[in-house]
Amino acid sequence: MPRGEKRSFECLLCKVKYSKHSVEEGDFYVATSICKSCYRRMQELPASVSCFGKLPSKGFHGYNSHNLVCSSVCPDRRVCLHFTTNRKLKRTK
Ligand SMILES: [Zn+2]
Repeated sequence: MPRGEKRSFECLLCKVKYSKHSVEEGDFYVATSICKSCYRRMQELPASVSCFGKLPSKGFHGYNSHNLVCSSVCPDRRVCLHFTTNRKLKRTK
């Protein structure tokens, strides 16, 4: 990455460009090159469409650390865990 470049990260899904600051703020995930808004959208999708950021529910896949896909295959696993945990916290409020 060239020095002094302001917005050097581009989201693979929405193509919006993000700065290093956004990364520090947690608005963009460098590991996957996907931004927080896209992940939010994925999380809001029904469980039948996307398992992202969800806990397993009746008949649907969700984050499960014992599942091989969730623990080592899925490229979104770390972010997914983060979102899933946050959602859990929100629910207990
Ligand atoms: Zn995005």
